[in-house]
Amino acid sequence: MEFIGVYFSPKQISNPVTFSPSPRKPALVVADWIEKNLPIRIIDPVPVTREQIAHAHDRSYVDGVLDCDLRNGFGGRQRDIAESLPWTSGSVLSAASCALDNGLVACSPTSGFHHASYKSGFGYCTFNGLMVTALVLKAERKVRRVGILDCDQHYGDGTAKIIARLAIDWICHVSEEYCDTSDAKRFVDKLPAVVRGFSDCDLLIYQAGADQHIDDPLGGFLTTEELAERDRIVFSVAKEIGIPVIWNLTGGYLTPLERVLEIHRNTMVAFIAEYVARESQ
Ligand SMILES: [Zn+2]
Repeated sequence: MEFIGVYFSPKQISNPVTFSPSPRKPALVVADWIEKNLPIRIIDPVPVTREQIAHAHDRSYVDGVLDCDLRNGFGGRQRDIAESLPWTSGSVLSAASCALDNGLVACSPTSGFHHASYKSGFGYCTFNGLMVTALVLKAERKVRRVGILDCDQHYGDGTAKIIARLAIDWICHVSEEYCDTSDAKRFVDKLPAVVRGFSDCDLLIYQAGADQHIDDPLGGFLTTEELAERDRIVFSVAKEIGIPVIWNLTGGYLTPLERVLEIHRNTMVAFIAEYVARESQ
């Protein structure tokens, strides 16, 4: 590959008054990667439809949120959030479709999915774009099995609930909460085997959370170097077992925000090191 496809549109952005920087983060992340001359190409995602979102959610919840009648994952009914939602899930689905087509990789600079369950949102998450993507691709017969490796600091409870609710047996979902720095070595040591566990999947969706950083105010247990090792292992083992992989941003609450951008940049650099031909850099 000569560049990494990054599925980004300004329409993904919203600006709620909230503790989380995630709704406005994609534009800042992408601007940072462009400024640093990383070999990426920005590609317009295709927004998902209400019907597509309803593969993973109750249709009345989908309509209620998008029509601003029901509360979103930020606890409000803001129109700009509602309008951004088809684009955030659309970014994941577009990136996944690209990775399946090229047999390799793509990036979705998005957050705010894994706490969203079938009929409700929570924790800055309204719709579960991970599950929407897996279910739409399954319905289109583009995948048999999908892996979700959730390396956000917090448990992907919404993802697990939708999997249970819909009795899905073809998604391999790995999400664990680590609280103590003494967990770091155990986490890194077992990660290659965890990624190899996805070898029978047709696609791996990797949530590369910045909130696993040890200084993150909402948790975290890994140093900057250990986070880089995490990313290197995920991408190198995924490549070794030949599974297309997409990654997204998910959480990160360090201040100043530059520190979060640095973590996401390191993930992209690891991604590029594994997949972009050295001679093209
Ligand atoms: Zn988190």
